[in-house]
Amino acid sequence: MFNSLSDRLQDTFDKLRGKGRLTEDDINVAMREIRMALLEADVNFRVVKNFVARCKEKCLESDVLDSLTPAQNVVRIVLDELTVLLGSTDSKLTLAQNRTPNVIMLVGLQGSGKTTAAAKLAYLLKSQGHSPLLAACDTHRPAAADQLATLGSEIGVSVYRGDGRDAVAVATGSIREAVDHMNDIVIVDTAGRLQIDEEMMEEAVAIKRAVRPDQILMVVDAMTGQDIVNVVTEFANRVDFDGVIMSKLDGDARGGGALSVREVTGKPIKFVSMGEKPDSLEVFHPDRMAKRILGMGDVVGIIEQAQKVADEQQMEDAERMLREGFTMDDLLKQMQQIRKMGGLQKIMGMIPGMERAMSQMPAGMDDSQMTRIEAIIHSMTKEERARPKIINGQRRKRIAVGSGRSVQEVNQLIKQWDEMNKMMGKMRGMAQQMGGKGGKK
Ligand code: GDP
Repeated sequence: MFNSLSDRLQDTFDKLRGKGRLTEDDINVAMREIRMALLEADVNFRVVKNFVARCKEKCLESDVLDSLTPAQNVVRIVLDELTVLLGSTDSKLTLAQNRTPNVIMLVGLQGSGKTTAAAKLAYLLKSQGHSPLLAACDTHRPAAADQLATLGSEIGVSVYRGDGRDAVAVATGSIREAVDHMNDIVIVDTAGRLQIDEEMMEEAVAIKRAVRPDQILMVVDAMTGQDIVNVVTEFANRVDFDGVIMSKLDGDARGGGALSVREVTGKPIKFVSMGEKPDSLEVFHPDRMAKRILGMGDVVGIIEQAQKVADEQQMEDAERMLREGFTMDDLLKQMQQIRKMGGLQKIMGMIPGMERAMSQMPAGMDDSQMTRIEAIIHSMTKEERARPKIINGQRRKRIAVGSGRSVQEVNQLIKQWDEMNKMMGKMRGMAQQMGGKGGKK
């Protein structure tokens, strides 16, 4: 997502950084480039116009151009404005304290990812200690209730289907069901259509009236192009909603929708969905997203992601590896860890400049290469994994046959392991040196 926009903006900034002093003309050229990049990313033209005007005005203030680091200041201004465009602050889901159950209603077009988003939201809330109930109020698409029921059983959340015919009756029935079963939140999945449709809007309004939701969230497919503005505006006018769940941000969405929706409707993006699995819904952080778009990386995101999967054992492992070097088993574990964090691609995307650097290095390690390495390590004996130095020619051949890879690849892995161990040795040396210096002070 946002890849091409991100590349273009970074190119623009690289050019500015190469200049030293900046003139008004430089700013004009940069702003033109930013304008083109945003338009090509499918950002609504009015949004682009206002955004660029705001950036330009701030950049032309005399203290920016006269400062010692004008390019840096321009980047900072664009970053700030981009953050504002994305919504400034995190928009947490606000739940009413004095009402049980809370009701969250999802609306949106068919195929936007509404039904899966309902399940993902239930999963997220469940992991936070809530006891959600899913209400299958999409009574028009016959498979929708079945889909929700399947998703619900996968994540261990009950699904209320009622008679499966009258959406309003299912919605009100689900509230009674939640009261009976002590569910503190009901998530109502409603019917969508391929396009804006009178009946769909009327039904959504009728459900809204019947269950008085605490929050209405509109699910918006990030792949929708310019049309997104019309769709969200129509929903805002007819049903009204409190926030957006932006789905399918993992695809090659150009990002225009995500960048336009706040300014066009005034409604914040509350969650983003980055995959089909139940755990792929994340709270949206405008500042982090803006930094990622500008290639500044999402360091907080990486730490959070690592914390999710790290445990004490891993901390101990890390210390041991730094002390004694690491084995093939360690390498395997590290790779599995990376997978748990969402794969190399996802992590790379969060590291400042890394995604860009990787794309310029075709030989960089990708997920499929990780799978090949795992296969090779799995074909080693316990002893070989612990002490790779003993892997001689004969053993290399056996490992290659066992893993279905070539001897060359086995050689390469062992060489990489050796280099990584040497590097770790150097790091150990550096750490000791620094520790030593610190001690003398
Ligand atoms: P609905 O008609 O709005 O209820 O849409 P669904 O929930 O059935 O989703 C439509 C399709 O989009 C399904 O195949 C989902 O698996 C897929 N989908 C939903 N959200 C995401 C997402 O964040 N990323 C990806 N890659 N696919 C998604």
